[in-house]
Amino acid sequence: MLLYIHIPFCKRICSYCDFYHTTCLDLYPKFIEKIKNDITQSEGGSLKTLYFGGGTPSTLSIDDLSEIILSINRRFDTGNLKEITIECNPDDLTLQYCKSLYNIGINRLSIGIQSFCDDHLKTMNRRHNADQAISAVMNAKDAGFRNITIDLIYGLPFMTESQWQFNLDTAIKLDIQHISAYHLTIEKGTLFDRMNIKPVSEDVSERHYKMLRESLLSNGFSQYEISNFCKAGYSAIHNSGYWDGVPYLGLGPSAHSFDGKNKRWWEPSSLTKWLNGERCEIEILSSEQRAEEIIMTSLRTTKGLKTSDEKILNSARNLLSQGLMEYTNGYLKIRPEHFLISDYIICELF
Ligand code: SF4
Repeated sequence: MLLYIHIPFCKRICSYCDFYHTTCLDLYPKFIEKIKNDITQSEGGSLKTLYFGGGTPSTLSIDDLSEIILSINRRFDTGNLKEITIECNPDDLTLQYCKSLYNIGINRLSIGIQSFCDDHLKTMNRRHNADQAISAVMNAKDAGFRNITIDLIYGLPFMTESQWQFNLDTAIKLDIQHISAYHLTIEKGTLFDRMNIKPVSEDVSERHYKMLRESLLSNGFSQYEISNFCKAGYSAIHNSGYWDGVPYLGLGPSAHSFDGKNKRWWEPSSLTKWLNGERCEIEILSSEQRAEEIIMTSLRTTKGLKTSDEKILNSARNLLSQGLMEYTNGYLKIRPEHFLISDYIICELF
């Protein structure tokens, strides 16, 4: 089983963000009390991975984080726990904080860098600047971390190609193990939406995506999912578990859970509702819905979909002949150079 803990607090709201977050830091003590209680009340089980996501998990003090981990150790079997990840904002990653994270057993850091250009970071309303982004990675390495991933954003309307190349080159030089790169989407209600920022053209998206693949693939990374690249042996066990249908438990406001078969449930996307113990929403998937989900998530990975289903292969015939997909050794795959139009390809397949 995978365990996800959502830490909803953010000190500042990024212009593109539509994850559940809150700036009500005065509710932090109540949050800590309830999350530990929810861990204790959960059914437990054997954990493969533990992931602190947000929000900004690095707003947690080391004492509180240690107590949360202690509660997890008491409730769950952690004998096979392979990966403990925490998402961090660069400006939280002092050398002392990194050392403390390392000492309490965190073995993977996910650092939300997004860009190494100060003007991008300002426009995105990020808390850190480019120097802090680089120092964060250095501090993490000095503290002992050997499994570091960073997030980057491309397809920004105010990003030139040379700036995107600079971001990629800087990331490569940091000699880290994993990079997640996301194309900007302008979600309703975000600051960018209210600023009437327009998405880049398809041409720009394609060029940025091509640069991303060419730079990372020629520098020791391989792509294993639309947005994820890693050095050998460093794919994210937690996220890969989601795509492989492993059951997961999500605790904290807005966190989602899945029983590995047909049941999903999620906590309210409101800290106050969650603190007041409002019930989770539940969805029972039909076998058709679950089959569609498996197709969609598998096709976003380079491994692809294991299938010999004649109906699916017939639907894929045109896509195969156009070179958008390939079928090898029983796996149907989108060719990675066409991942950017995966929504269109999956739509055609259905
Ligand atoms: S730090 Fe993360 S969760 Fe918080 S506003 Fe920024 S992108 Fe959203």
